[in-house]
Amino acid sequence: MPSSDRGIRILTIADIPVKIDMSWFIILVFVTWNLAMDYFPNQFEGETYLFYWAIGALTSLFLFSSILLHEAGHSVAARFFGINIKDITLFIFGGVAIMEEDPGNPGQELIIAAAGPFMSLILALFYRALSTIVLSNYGFNIISSMFDYIVIVNIGIIVFNLMPGLPLDGGRILRAILWKINGNIRKSTSIASTTGKIIGFILMAIGFIEIILHILSGFWLILIGIFLIQAAKMSYESVFISSLIGNLKVSDALSSNNLRIKSDTTVHTAAREYFMKHPHKGYPVIKTNPETKTGEEGNNSEENYTVIGFVTLNDLLSIPKKEWESTNLEELIIKKKLRWYKTEPDTEAKQALILMKNTGESNLIVMKDEKLVGIISYQDIMNLVDLRLALEEQVEKE
Ligand SMILES: [Zn+2]
Repeated sequence: MPSSDRGIRILTIADIPVKIDMSWFIILVFVTWNLAMDYFPNQFEGETYLFYWAIGALTSLFLFSSILLHEAGHSVAARFFGINIKDITLFIFGGVAIMEEDPGNPGQELIIAAAGPFMSLILALFYRALSTIVLSNYGFNIISSMFDYIVIVNIGIIVFNLMPGLPLDGGRILRAILWKINGNIRKSTSIASTTGKIIGFILMAIGFIEIILHILSGFWLILIGIFLIQAAKMSYESVFISSLIGNLKVSDALSSNNLRIKSDTTVHTAAREYFMKHPHKGYPVIKTNPETKTGEEGNNSEENYTVIGFVTLNDLLSIPKKEWESTNLEELIIKKKLRWYKTEPDTEAKQALILMKNTGESNLIVMKDEKLVGIISYQDIMNLVDLRLALEEQVEKE
């Protein structure tokens, strides 16, 4: 599922940051409102508003923790196989545990995908037991009704997530089974992503029918449908790309650009001498170390430097034009807190892509033994993907 960087970090479970997307607050308020104003007053008359709102908020918290624990189930399973979880984000349709890479084999994929619904099943049984205990001791009341509601929520989570299309858990289970049978992750992902899109369209169609029948929740189904269709497409593309670049290394996709700019260069000079003369989107900035011996200019001074950052045209444009002559690149990097990330020529291109995805940077500085080798951009890797695809199509034709 797509990553969301908009989330607000609320807590950390087993070293995994848990973030809440802003859209989650909307659903939380909506659900609480619905429970307090409609669901509980209809079942139990004659209580105060304060009581309905309190029980509504409490139920929402149980709902929230059910989604969180479902995602935690996936995370614990992934961790077990040594796959890192970047974070868990709760957003409008539930939660997503963002893994740093795809699972290595069908068995792992199956267990990680099934761990979420399994956790929800345990929760459903647990709340069912609580409801039974309350019921047998105090009879039917608002507390047992609340636990029953949470049981239904967890069953709903299981049913929704087990629908057999990507990016849902059921889609991942389907992909794992197909992958085991045919040994081809790309073909299996393609099938599971197609069923994901079909499920998305069916939900949208039901949503439209509901709206025609004046059932407002139809909007909800349409939103979920659109989301599923997009996410299904993305899951396929991600696997498609990583299967095409296979075990290619960063050095295979490296562009020949090995220009660098000295840190004492002014923004004005950098713009004129580099950005206007060459077609590159950014350059590493180097600081020459003071111990460089004078009189040994040329090759030797070139060797003695430290990379201190990476600047793009947008970074230059982020400061007012009138400061261009008086600001050098080192000052710009400090002032704007510019980040940069490095990789090595021997690193797998797939890993470089993951780093780009996790940091949101589309350029990485390639270094070997603290020395600059070049730059690798998202576009460089995509060009390689296009090339491979063209070759593969040619081979299939023959
Ligand atoms: Zn799940």
